Amino acid sequence: MTPSDTWFYENFSYTGSAIGFRITRKLDEVQSPFQKIEMYESTDWGNIMTIDGAMMVTTRDNFFYHEMMAHAPLFTHANPKNVVIIGGGDCGTLREVLKHKGVETAVQCDIDEQVTRMAEKYFPELCESNNDPRATVMFDDGIAYMENAEPESIDLIIVDSTDPVGPAEGLFNEAFYKNCLKALRPDGLLVQQSESPLALMHLIHDMRKAMSDAGFKNFRTLPFPQPCYPTGWWSGTIASKSACDLTKFREGDASAKTFATKYYNVGIHQGALMMPEFMKTELPD
Ligand code: SAM
Repeated sequence: MTPSDTWFYENFSYTGSAIGFRITRKLDEVQSPFQKIEMYESTDWGNIMTIDGAMMVTTRDNFFYHEMMAHAPLFTHANPKNVVIIGGGDCGTLREVLKHKGVETAVQCDIDEQVTRMAEKYFPELCESNNDPRATVMFDDGIAYMENAEPESIDLIIVDSTDPVGPAEGLFNEAFYKNCLKALRPDGLLVQQSESPLALMHLIHDMRKAMSDAGFKNFRTLPFPQPCYPTGWWSGTIASKSACDLTKFREGDASAKTFATKYYNVGIHQGALMMPEFMKTELPD
């Protein structure tokens, strides 16, 4: 560390910790009607996107999150054909979803077009599937999208949103989950980024209660590493419209997958289902 180094820090007030990245320069910024999106070039983590000062994506470590938020629920569903991503403006989750050849349609509905426009410039590798004929990249409030979704038209809903503040706050409540439930087919699944199990277990409890009150039947929270996020350890929570064992997934298909990943594989999925002791205690499924 030399005195001339420049660093970007994010202080996580709710965890009493912070993270820093050595940067070479600020690449861009835009104030959209919804949030401020900033881009940095770093010495060791590639490009970095922040939204309202919060870490969103780095070139180096986004694969943990995008792969677990897509492949774990997709291989849990028996035969997912119609997928909707709420949020996901950096397009990384969409790219992973479209690796599944059985998926027939994938809609990405992000409230903020500027996030995708910036991702196209600074994370083109995450946007490489945006022109897939199965993909629809649209810009609207995900709350409205689910209010208007056709009943029983979706197999998997992926909520890949920012933290439950600002425009994303309404994606973490019973009213939204009720609309998700209505839009899902009987064997449909919802998966939502559920923050750090180490720092925000109360949020996971709140999410699951609201999902249960909305009518979802079973829940499973899968932890995974995410170095650039608070505590470096993140999670996705899967909820099922009908009663089913979410510890079971298409292991054969996951083992035989022909597409490349950097983190997800059948063993990682099995491991994420094992859960550490404190999570088993906190989240008895
Ligand atoms: N991987 C990141 C994480 O876990 O924090 C999130 C990726 S993505 C950049 C988060 C997206 O959620 C943003 O693009 C933001 O515009 C979008 N978003 C927030 N509230 C939304 C809403 N109500 N409807 C649709 N998208 C929303």
